[in-house]
Amino acid sequence: QAALRQYPAQAIVDLAAMRDNMRHLVSVVGGPQSGTAVMGVVKADAYGHGLIPSALAALAGGATWLGTAQSHEALLLRKAGIGPDRCHILTWVYNGTQVPFDELIANDIDVSVGSLAGIDALAAAARKVGRPARVHVKVDSGFGRNGFTPQGFGAALDKLVPLAKEGVLDIIGQWSHLAVADSPDVPEFVDATDQQVATFNEFTQRMCAAGIAPKIRHLANTAATLDRPQIHFELTRPGVGLYGYEPDPAMGTPQTYRLKPAMTLQAQLGTVKDVESGHGISYGRTYLTPQATSTAIVPVGYADGIHRSASGFDMQGAKHITKLGGPVRVMTEQGPKLLRVSGRVCMDQFILDLHGSAAEMGVHEGDTVELFGPGRGEDYAEPTADDWARAADTISYEIFTCLRNRIPRLYL
Ligand code: PLP
Repeated sequence: QAALRQYPAQAIVDLAAMRDNMRHLVSVVGGPQSGTAVMGVVKADAYGHGLIPSALAALAGGATWLGTAQSHEALLLRKAGIGPDRCHILTWVYNGTQVPFDELIANDIDVSVGSLAGIDALAAAARKVGRPARVHVKVDSGFGRNGFTPQGFGAALDKLVPLAKEGVLDIIGQWSHLAVADSPDVPEFVDATDQQVATFNEFTQRMCAAGIAPKIRHLANTAATLDRPQIHFELTRPGVGLYGYEPDPAMGTPQTYRLKPAMTLQAQLGTVKDVESGHGISYGRTYLTPQATSTAIVPVGYADGIHRSASGFDMQGAKHITKLGGPVRVMTEQGPKLLRVSGRVCMDQFILDLHGSAAEMGVHEGDTVELFGPGRGEDYAEPTADDWARAADTISYEIFTCLRNRIPRLYL
């Protein structure tokens, strides 16, 4: 606790909420006996929530797989004692062919391949280690990112089949990623997802015909886990749902899907003071106080991962331009009040116009304010990462993955 006093802000991560979110996602695929397993996607430091505690919460909630983008994150999971008896781990983003494939194989970590050079590098590593590599063949069903295209797949099969027969590669999975599954109400996006599914199935047929049928097919992210039961296959890969958010607010709120946002970001107020009407606030004077008011400093800024694009403008004069800044809930002595970033977000702090007198409202330096949390409360007074995403013109994913380590994570 004493050490924490050095930090004016903290992210509180509710691991029970995360576990319950995973329990819910497992129940959505039909429960542990359904033939569909669930992978907790814990890449990017578990979307900013902390890799190891989040991975353990996902496993406690019934995930039997963990997924990371980078191989070092997969290795960290194994080093933390999450052994192959607890779960499978898949990793998929590599630095060309310079991958520690040998270390991954030796640590029972499944790997993705989606290029001919990748197959060669993996086969060489498997031979070196003297154990077959567990492979998930990545196919580009329409995302245009990683994976073999339909036209390039013949050459891939020519390499994969003999390596599988020799026992150098163990073909575990076939997988792909969806581009627009989070927009179930937009007809052309539904068509695009249907097309991706059809292409995915054609790849499966080609693998089966070549004698390397995948044991596990996986395609569904959170959106498809929640909304497309017909493509759950043998495994789904929810990420953002584990952390309590729906992929797109247009799909509904976390509550619509019985998810609970796991992270609460709070800070303690710095300087609180009174200013005159028309007082310029922050760089660029993009906010001039509309009336005499009090202001308060929130001591986090873009160096902490608070988006500068969540700045709030109130430019008076001939062209009166306003833009809503990121929301902050302040617990005044008169009750909760929702305020907005006023002026530009700076490197280490931003400013709130309290729209009234701090003395009258009962707002003091050192008071704890909430930037976002699960959105509790009848009056919905607590903002969520979706609200910050709206103010910063981005998605909730970016709001929490951008939070830097200068904000300590505290676990409930
Ligand atoms: N699978 C892959 C390959 C991903 O890159 C991601 C995240 O972007 C996910 C699954 C999880 O997606 P979501 O967080 O939308 O559930």
